[in-house]
This record gives sequence, C-alpha cells and structure tokens, in this order.
Amino acid sequence: MVFRPRNSSLNRRNFLKTSASSVVVAGLFDLNLNKPNVSSSGKSVIIIGAGIAGLTAARELMDSGYTVLVLEASNKIGGRIRTNRALGVPIEEGAGWIHGPEDNPIMKLAEQSGQKTFVTKDSNFAVFNHRGKKISNQMISEMGQEHRQMLDLIGSGMTKDMPLSEALEHMAPKMSRDPIFKWMTSAYTEFDTGSPVNELSAMYFNQDDMFHGEDVVLVDGYDRLLEPLTHGIAILTRKPVRRIAYHDRAGVFVQTDKEIFESDFVIVTVPLGVLKAQDIEFIPPLPEIHRNAIERVGMGDVTKVAMKFDELHWPENTQYFGLMTQTQGRWNYFLNHKPFIDANVLTALSFGNYSRMIETMDHDYMLEDAMKAVRTMFGWDTPDPRHYIATRWSQDPYTKGAFSYAKVGCNPYDFNVLSEPVSRCLTLAGEHTNFQYHGTVHGAHLSGKKAAKIAMETMM
Ligand SMILES: Cc1cc2nc3c(=O)[nH]c(=O)nc-3n(C[C@H](O)[C@H](O)[C@H](O)COP(=O)(O)OP(=O)(O)OC[C@H]3O[C@@H](n4cnc5c(N)ncnc54)[C@H](O)[C@@H]3O)c2cc1C
Repeated sequence: MVFRPRNSSLNRRNFLKTSASSVVVAGLFDLNLNKPNVSSSGKSVIIIGAGIAGLTAARELMDSGYTVLVLEASNKIGGRIRTNRALGVPIEEGAGWIHGPEDNPIMKLAEQSGQKTFVTKDSNFAVFNHRGKKISNQMISEMGQEHRQMLDLIGSGMTKDMPLSEALEHMAPKMSRDPIFKWMTSAYTEFDTGSPVNELSAMYFNQDDMFHGEDVVLVDGYDRLLEPLTHGIAILTRKPVRRIAYHDRAGVFVQTDKEIFESDFVIVTVPLGVLKAQDIEFIPPLPEIHRNAIERVGMGDVTKVAMKFDELHWPENTQYFGLMTQTQGRWNYFLNHKPFIDANVLTALSFGNYSRMIETMDHDYMLEDAMKAVRTMFGWDTPDPRHYIATRWSQDPYTKGAFSYAKVGCNPYDFNVLSEPVSRCLTLAGEHTNFQYHGTVHGAHLSGKKAAKIAMETMM
C-alpha cells in the first residue's frame, strides 16, 4: 500500500491530545515519521470524503502523477450520490437530476460513460388542493409566472437582507397567502434550496447560477457516473477521520479511529453539516474567516420516501404531482418513476423544517404520513406500498443535512472563501464551497477540480 497507516496505539501522545495548539503540532511533526512511497510527481495527497468532489479531485491528481489516498467514513463511496436498488430498480436517495444538462460537466461525464438519460418535464404535472381536488393546469401556470416574477423582483431589488418569507409578506401580502402561491414557495423554492423559507436569505437565495436545458435523470442510476472517476484510485471506506494536523513545512497527519496517515497535502471534502458539528478536529484550528463562513452558510434538508406498489394508482404518464398540504414543506411534491422505469414507484418529497422534524420519526410514522398525502390525491382506498425506502439526511452522521443554502446573514463570499486554501497543505472542497453552483452535483464536481489545481500549484 502506498500510504503507510500508523497504528494510533503507537505513542502519538501529542497527536492524541485533545488540546489544539501550535505546540501540539510542533511536537507531532518532531516525531519524524516516514513519508509514504511517492509517485512520479514525488508528492502525496490525502482526500477526505469519497463524494463527487473528493473523487473528482482524486482523479485529477492521479492523472497528473500524484499519489492519492481517499479516506471515506461510510461503507460506500458516492456521498450524496446514493443509488438504492433495494426496490429492484434504481432509486436515488440523494441527487436525482442533472440540473441543466447543456454544457454541464456532469452531463459530459454521463455521455462519456454511455449513461442512458431521460428528460423530465417540469410542465408535465397535476396539482391538487389540500382536500384532493385537482387545480387546473392553466391556473398553476399563471400563478407560476407571477411567483417567478415576484421572486426575481425580490432577488434583484433587496438592499437589506431578511428572510424570504418576510420579504414576500412585505412585497405581496395578499398573494403570498394564496394557497397556490404558498405551495409554490415550498415545492419549488424550499425544494431547490432545502431551506425553510423563513431562514432563506431574500438577498441571495436566487443569485446562484444554472446551466440551461431541461433536467434529466440517469435511468440506470446516478452512481454509475462515479465508476470512471474511481478507476485505479486507492479508496479506504469505513475510515471516519477524527483529527487533521497540518503544518506548512512538515505536511499533514490524518487520524482515523485506528490509524494515522501522513501526506504532503490534504483536501477535506466533508459536507458542511459535518464541519458545522466540528466532528473533525483541525490542529491548528481552521482560520477564523473559514470558521465564520461555516457558521453563517445554512445546511438545508430534503426527505424522500420512495414507494413501490403492486399496481399503479395514479396517471401513468404524468411526471410530477403537487399537493397543497397545509403544513409548510410537508409531502407536497411527488415524482412518478413510471415514465422512465418499469415499476410502479412514486417518490414523496418533504422540505426544510418539516424534513428536519419527520426524519426524527420512526419509519412506520414516516410512511403513514406520506401515505396520507398520497391518499388525499389518489383515493382513501389506495393500499400501502409493498416496499419503500425513506431517507434521513439530517440524521446521517456523515452528512447532517441535504445541501447548503444562502441563509439570512450570509453572502456569496462566505461560500467562496471556503474554497480558498487554508494553508500550503490544506484546502476544503465540496458543494458548499462554490456559491455559483452550490447544492448541486456539478458544483461539487467543479469544487473538486479547483481543489486539485490548488494542491498541484501549491506543491510545485
Ligand atoms: C436529497 C438530495 C437531493 C439532491 N438532489 C440533487 C439533484 O437532483 N441534482 C444535483 O445536482 N444535486 C442534488 N443534490 C446535491 C448533491 O447530491 C450534492 O451537492 C453533492 O453530491 C455533494 O457532493 P460532495 O462531494 O460535496 O459531498 P458528499 O457527496 O456528501 O461527499 C462527502 C463525503 O465525505 C464523507 N465524510 C463525512 N465525514 C467524514 C469523515 N469524518 N471522514 C471521512 N469521510 C467523511 C461522507 O460520508 C461523504 O461520502 C441532492 C442532495 C440531496 C441530499
């Protein structure tokens, strides 16, 4: 093996101390550990986290002749790209769509590896009020236009930040209480951002960028994209990193539960939720500017319950269903898988505060709650699904939320500063370090490329 793990029961007394000070670091590096075997570049990089950001960085570095080791806490790679095949068909627990496939680097990856895609159409929907009465599509489309215009007006015209919910109340008191408008604010805006509308920055919630074109799903599973990235790369799973000691001259030491690994550079791609929880100790601590940004940027939540039925209980060719549930964020958007897979699968989605709450409930409660919403739309005699999958991103110890969002009080700089090198041997990466495309697979991928470039330029 290229990277030599060191059993932490060796006398790494300074490293294992919980106090973090420069004295501790100096002591650690005085131990004069052996350097790992090196590759053609003569330099080695540890990457923490095997999501798309980490795997992209690993691929770039390895192709440029660096020795790379990826340490992943969970038992599989992919992070928030997680395809579950327990229902007999691929179901996405995390990322589901390539948003805006035109010129999107993720679409290029999909094409290069010959992935089959299916174009989903946002205009192919049926929306029901909270009693289950269908609302005309024309009414939804008209209100949709007003909703977009109002959000654009708010996004471009704010001079002082406030929660989006307050801005809507202020700018459009009557319209913002309309049930269709309220539904859109959750099913579209809370879904897009993962954020409760009362925490979302009215100034920056829609100032990020997007690629063009109608979204696509990957029919055989999003995780298939990862295969070309991982080829030939040393990845160790079940290695939760607990501590990272870094020093510009002496290099990096990374401690897991059982070993210490050493390298010239480290790229840390763990999700924002993990950084917020301070589950990894940095020695010395991250600079204040990074710590402030980690605190200010928000980590949102999205919950999915994918249900497989023996028979189809909804219109076969309608791609999306909306339900104007009265509780904000509660099971108000549904994806019909039938148009692109040969199975009667419906995924119910919840967002923001409701997600955070429902994910603390047990599986039976979650299913019953989602099924109440399904039965409101398709009839009280709709039977329970034969099988289902429920996600709990806010409870996942290695994610602690779904994706980052512009929280009231933060600004784009807070995201972007996270991608600036912490030192000459440590940089962060991940979707939360790229304001332009935060909360997306392509944002995370681009951040991985940037981190690899920083590492190479710094080690030159
Ligand atoms: C429900 C949901 C729906 C989404 N839908 C879409 C979508 O449709 N389209 C889209 O573009 N994006 C979507 N996203 C966002 C997208 O999935 C993420 O932005 C992207 O996958 C993040 O990649 P990453 O590499 O930054 O982080 P991650 O994929 O989270 O990778 C980080 C890795 O770090 C590991 N880790 C954590 N702690 C430690 C530790 N201590 N030691 C070692 N490893 C550790 C984690 O286990 C994880 O594997 C969605 C996300 C969710 C949750």
